[in-house]
Amino acid sequence: MTDKLIKKNRGHRKKEMAKAEATNMTALAASYDDRIRPILDAIDRLRHLKVMQEGIELPTIVVVGDQSSGKSSVLESLAGINLPRGQGICTRVPLIMRLQDHPSLSQPQLQLEYKDKTITTSETGITNAIRAATDEIAGNGKGISNTPLTLVVKKSGVPDLTMVDLPGITRVPVHGQPENIYEKISDIIMEYITPKESIILNVLSATVDFPTCESIRMSQQVDRTGERTLAVVTKADKAPEGLLEKVTTDDVNIGLGYVCVRNRVGDESYEQARDAEKRLFETHPLLSRIDKSIVGIPVLAQRLMQIQAAIISKCLPDIVKKINEKLSRNASELQQMPQNLSSMTDAMRAFMHMISMAKESLRKILIGGEFDEFPDDMGMHGTARMSEMLAKYSKELPSKCPSSDERFLMEEIAVLGEAKGINGLPNFLPRTAFLILLRRKVKEISHTPSEFVRKMWAYIEDVVLRVLLHHSEDYPQLQSLTRRAAENLIEKMRNRSYDVMKVSIEMEMVADYTSNPDYMKTWTELMNNRDDFMNAIENHAKPTKLLLKGFGEVEIHHLRQYAAMAEQAFDMRMRITAYWRSVVLRLVDNLALHILYSVNCLVEKEIEMELVDELVGPRMSGLERMLEESPSTAGKRERLRKSIALLKESKQVVAKIMDRIEAHGD
Ligand code: GDP
Ligand code: MG
Repeated sequence: MTDKLIKKNRGHRKKEMAKAEATNMTALAASYDDRIRPILDAIDRLRHLKVMQEGIELPTIVVVGDQSSGKSSVLESLAGINLPRGQGICTRVPLIMRLQDHPSLSQPQLQLEYKDKTITTSETGITNAIRAATDEIAGNGKGISNTPLTLVVKKSGVPDLTMVDLPGITRVPVHGQPENIYEKISDIIMEYITPKESIILNVLSATVDFPTCESIRMSQQVDRTGERTLAVVTKADKAPEGLLEKVTTDDVNIGLGYVCVRNRVGDESYEQARDAEKRLFETHPLLSRIDKSIVGIPVLAQRLMQIQAAIISKCLPDIVKKINEKLSRNASELQQMPQNLSSMTDAMRAFMHMISMAKESLRKILIGGEFDEFPDDMGMHGTARMSEMLAKYSKELPSKCPSSDERFLMEEIAVLGEAKGINGLPNFLPRTAFLILLRRKVKEISHTPSEFVRKMWAYIEDVVLRVLLHHSEDYPQLQSLTRRAAENLIEKMRNRSYDVMKVSIEMEMVADYTSNPDYMKTWTELMNNRDDFMNAIENHAKPTKLLLKGFGEVEIHHLRQYAAMAEQAFDMRMRITAYWRSVVLRLVDNLALHILYSVNCLVEKEIEMELVDELVGPRMSGLERMLEESPSTAGKRERLRKSIALLKESKQVVAKIMDRIEAHGD
């Protein structure tokens, strides 16, 4: 019945509809003027202030689509002006298009803004102006850039919308395009569509199979359910067959729905194009069956304005929150920045403060065992790590005297054999033989203490450097001097430790002495075995295997030929075994005490002296350096100041619209 009616009264109805639409648009425009416009202006102002650089995302409608899908044509239809359009890649930089309805204007006003420039242009000049600006931003080849270009269109009857047109996606570079064009374009697209604040306007040509579109694949990556994706199907006139089915089956998850359009073709004027579109969807046998609520540019304009209003009101509170957060973070960061020093006295004071802070930290970490400054950094729990290293070191020193003999006591026998003749009496234990053996054993383990000294100082150096660099981070210009001072000092202290260690080893090698009662006790115990041992040697009828406490089962057959010397060898082995414990204990304790003493010296006086020598010195060069603010600190201060100014301004902008919204009772 409706069909009949349309056919019958087409002329009449057409007029009616046009009238209704016009009223609609005017009503919409009116409500926009006093409610939405100021909000859009504010968002624009924020965009202009570049709050995006501060990590604050703005609600944005982003136009994406495969190359030649009709993106620019859609924008052109919405704006009612001619844009660069056609084959190949026309849009090479993001184009932010800001449409503003100005019913009082008889002629559209166009403005192109980029790189701090504002260029006023006309409807006929716009194409060339965009081309020239694009060339200036992205070079005049076929290059791509993510620096945006802003086009402000003030015109009577346009929807109040801000949209971003992006370069179309292409898999295959055409002649003159860079090889990595696909990656470059998809990076730009991703940058714009990833934020949750972006609405994706996916432009699809009716002539293609939607699931094969690159733009669908990309928008699905960031908006799987499609809740912020709206599809515009262009070229309805070129491929009307099956279009209704395509948009009703929705194979590609478009949450915000579809709008089918027909853009300007060839040299048509904007008005001609709209009339042709209207006729097409009313009269085409296939296209007229598509619901009127999802066809035509006016419908698209209205949908976009609704979506825009919704997303803005949804995002605003969050924007306010983010601006405030960022503002207070930057303000406190600026406050915490070091004062600019203006005199030598100031510098000296700052330097002394730095030293006392560093000393306090080192005292806690390396001496006191307080970890409040680095609770979660195990590497900085100095006393715990040092005691672990000591424990490991003492374990690495063999608690049993190392022996190299393949057959029991043969090492002792060989040494005794060499020492014979120097001493007269056969039962007199030659001390030289004992010392020779002792020296040999100590030498065998001497690499362990030296390895320990190396590791311990490497660790201490690490801690000291970290603490010093931490406390001097406000003065980057001092860090190399500070580092050098610390490295020099540690080097000196390490060498001192090596000397101490060498002396203790030397002492163990040239003399045998202990007041430790444990020695006599152990030796006596071990010597309890002597009778059994001598029996086995002398009585050839006895078994040649013997169980000796502390040595396990030993074979003694080979010793029967040595008789008296075997007894001496046995005694010698028992002595050195008993004595060895004292040697190891001394090597561990001496070195441990020495290291603890050194660390104490380092923290309590040497580090300060070294730093003063290096940084103050006779010419006070380090202090002078403190007076010049390093370029990086100055730069940071400047950046923070700028950012704070920008955020404060943004805050005011947003506060104004929030007040307005509340006044309207939205
Ligand atoms: P973009 O690369 O996505 O910006 O695509 P363009 O807007 O430059 O359009 C590519 C080509 O498709 C141009 O030649 C347009 O004239 C044409 N085109 C766009 N929309 C339509 C449409 O609705 N109908 C017809 N017939 N052609 C269209
Ligand atoms: Mg384009």
